[in-house]
Parts: sequence; C-alpha cells; structure tokens
Amino acid sequence: MVSIKSKSDIEKMLEAGKIAGHALNVVEQKLKPGMTTKDIDKIVHHEITAHGGIPNFLGLYGFPASACVSVNEEVIHGIPGTRRLNEGDIVSVDLGARYKGWNSDTCYTFAVGEVKPEVKKLLEDTNASLYAAIEAAQVGARLGDISHTVEAYCRERGYGIVQDYCGHGIGREVHEEPEVPNHGRAGHGMRLVEGMTICIEPMINMKGDGVHTLSNGWTVVTDNGCWSAHFEHMILISENGPVILTKR
Ligand code: MG
Repeated sequence: MVSIKSKSDIEKMLEAGKIAGHALNVVEQKLKPGMTTKDIDKIVHHEITAHGGIPNFLGLYGFPASACVSVNEEVIHGIPGTRRLNEGDIVSVDLGARYKGWNSDTCYTFAVGEVKPEVKKLLEDTNASLYAAIEAAQVGARLGDISHTVEAYCRERGYGIVQDYCGHGIGREVHEEPEVPNHGRAGHGMRLVEGMTICIEPMINMKGDGVHTLSNGWTVVTDNGCWSAHFEHMILISENGPVILTKR
C-alpha cells in the first residue's frame, strides 16, 4: 500500500532530509585522498546523531554501518572498511536519517580530487538524469514517466542502467511501496498523487547493465568492472510541483 503523508508528516520528513543533506555536505568538505571508507562512515554517524537524527541504515536488514560507501566499480551497498580512497576515484555515499519516527534517504557520488573527463561526465550525466526524473514526478503523471526519463537520458548517452535495484517509497519505513525503477515505459504504472513521498535513485554504469553481489553478501559491483555512479533524492509529490526533501 502506498501511504499518503500529511503536512505534519512532511515537516518531519523534511527535517530528516535536512539532517541527511547536512551529513553529505560534511562528507564533501572532509573528503580527501588517503581516507578510508570507514572514515566516511564515522563522519556520517557523527553528523546525523549530533543533529538529533538516528542513522536509519544502521541495522537495516542487518547492514553493519550508518552509510553505504561504494567506490569506483562498486555500485551500491559498499560496507565501510579499510579501503582507501585514491586521487581520481569516485565514491558514492548513500545515507539516511530517522527523525521523530520519519525517514530520509539520499545519495551523492563524489569525485576524489581530479577524475578523468569521462568519469566526470558520468557523474554529471547521472545527476542530470536524476533531476530530469524529478521534473517528471508531477501530480497526475505515472511512475513509468519517472523510470522512462532516467532510462532515455542515460541510454542516449551510452551508459548501462542497473535494473536489479530501484528507488522506492519512503516514510515511517525507509523502504515502502511503490518501487521506482530506473527503466520503464512512459505513461504506464501508478498515477502520482499529492502527498506521496518517493526516492528516485539512478544507478548508472559507464558501460553494461550487469551487476552482481560480492561474497560479503552486500556489496554490489559491475559485472565488467567499469565504474558506476549513484545519485538519490527524496521527493514529495505536490500540486505545486515536485519538492526535494533532501536538498543540500
Ligand atoms: Mg534509497
């Protein structure tokens, strides 16, 4: 069932979204070559809790950290640990906060220092596909319009699209209905109505759609080893147009 949020629900989700956005800002400020992915997780945990939130990824389905930190060929669900970031790497930091019982979820892929031009383009294009999809998330539009927007934008540019994972509804739970895939047919699927809150999160590979999970049971990597980007915002569907609740 898709839950519709009231004005007071949205206020708390916006607060949860601000805490998550702030944590990403601090990660961006402190990010430098030589850091480990665990260092990033520590920053995220500290910033969320210091601002009155609860890191909602910690323990979710048994996940052992406050952020999913995925480097280069890692797509999603990277477990923070001893991997060190090098100049020229990219790192996706996916995190969320719970505030007064309401959740947020957001992700950004950062460049570590100078990255190759084609890598910079992958990041810019993936982020742009997210914003194009947000623009499609209008009252009266359908879920397939969001999915198709991401797919068309990224296919035109020759990228691979991860289809085994998708965006989702969010609210009292981090993952609620409906699923929000990154591929689909325009004009199909559920109609978007005022008060829905969803996470749109393109996961885009430099080449090829295929991904698999490592033996740790969590980390999803590209089949061909190419690099992958992931950007996510939590959105309110509103008569006044889509509202980004995880704005930084
Ligand atoms: Mg998400």
